[in-house]
Amino acid sequence: MLIDLDFHIHSKYSGGTSSNMNFENISRQAILKGLHLVGTGDALHPGWLKDIRKLGKFSDGIFELNDCRFIITTEVEDAQRVHHFIILPEVSAAECLREALKKHSADIDKDGRPHVRLDGEEIADRVDDAGGLIGPSHAFVPWTSIYKEYDSLRECYGRNTGKIKFLELGLSADTEMADYIKELQDITFLSNSDAHSPWPHRLGREFNRLSVRDITYEDIKDAILRRKGNRVELNVGFDPRLGKYHRTACVNCYTLYEIEDAVRFRWRCPGCNKTLKKGVCDRIKELADYNEPRHPPHRPRYIRIAPLAEILCSALKIKTIYSVKIQDMWKKLVTRFGSEIAVLIDVPEEKIEAESDGDVAWMIKAFRDGRFSISYGGGGKYGEIIFDRGDADRENGTTPKQEESYTGRQASLDSFMR
Ligand SMILES: [Zn+2]
Ligand SMILES: [Zn+2]
Repeated sequence: MLIDLDFHIHSKYSGGTSSNMNFENISRQAILKGLHLVGTGDALHPGWLKDIRKLGKFSDGIFELNDCRFIITTEVEDAQRVHHFIILPEVSAAECLREALKKHSADIDKDGRPHVRLDGEEIADRVDDAGGLIGPSHAFVPWTSIYKEYDSLRECYGRNTGKIKFLELGLSADTEMADYIKELQDITFLSNSDAHSPWPHRLGREFNRLSVRDITYEDIKDAILRRKGNRVELNVGFDPRLGKYHRTACVNCYTLYEIEDAVRFRWRCPGCNKTLKKGVCDRIKELADYNEPRHPPHRPRYIRIAPLAEILCSALKIKTIYSVKIQDMWKKLVTRFGSEIAVLIDVPEEKIEAESDGDVAWMIKAFRDGRFSISYGGGGKYGEIIFDRGDADRENGTTPKQEESYTGRQASLDSFMR
């Protein structure tokens, strides 16, 4: 069977997270979004663990509430400020890992994403002892990822490198980009939202479609390990050009820079004197082993999507996603057609038009056909989709030529569908 799964979210106990991130809200929003399964996130936090224990049991290692299922996951920050993503088989495994990390962490009782004074290799030992899986979170972001710190998996995970079976691409990268790197050829890619709020443009903005025999922890693990016929069937995620660290840019005024210029300016913005952050796109160019992406035979397709709520904002000319009108229209379309993905990809345009208005249907069609341009994300600011105009690149003062060779042309969504 096929299931849509977003492994990586954070609870209300993580820093910078919405107080609405409780299981009641997450489960209801996940179902609307079309997700079958969500990672619990934050499974080392005592308060969140208590809430996890209150969920119903669905199968071995899988829990449920309001028809939404949960798998136990967590993220930790290591001594070098690298984030690791962890998937666990049972509540008892989370408790066991918590005990093992507790003496190395000052905030494991406070922060849903604890800081641990160990390196990647040492954390991987503890996760292995607990029977879980570990891999790099948002692997290329310039603040807290493996490749901001190291040039290879081995530098981070040492003798445990062979145990790394997955890597999370993060919002600013996709398969086209990551497959320039030789050491990732045998690694399964995951695309997750890393949501800090349950709103539909956050939760499930990236997810994985898995082909599994049953919905159990073991089957999902087998999908990541690509064995017994289980596998990741699709990665569905942000157009990486929209990711907030895609391009090299100033963290203050968000001006985009070519990497050569950033080096020449010594990573200081000539405009406002604040720090320039290396974009994921430029970091991948440094790490690239190949001149073009080489997709191994097991690699699933990556479908680029954008949040439906943002498309509705453009169509209805409303600035904020939180407006009642946007939320109402989103809910109407999603409940009528079953899920956000159905509206974005599957439902015929005429049917959408009958439920909304011409502009909404036109924009969804334009999105499917790839008839839009992009204002690139960078320096911590998300990019934007721009419909009906072709001047986004010029406005940014960038030269998209070089970019395009790395991210590929935005193909029509139709071309991805069988
Ligand atoms: Zn993280
Ligand atoms: Zn600046």
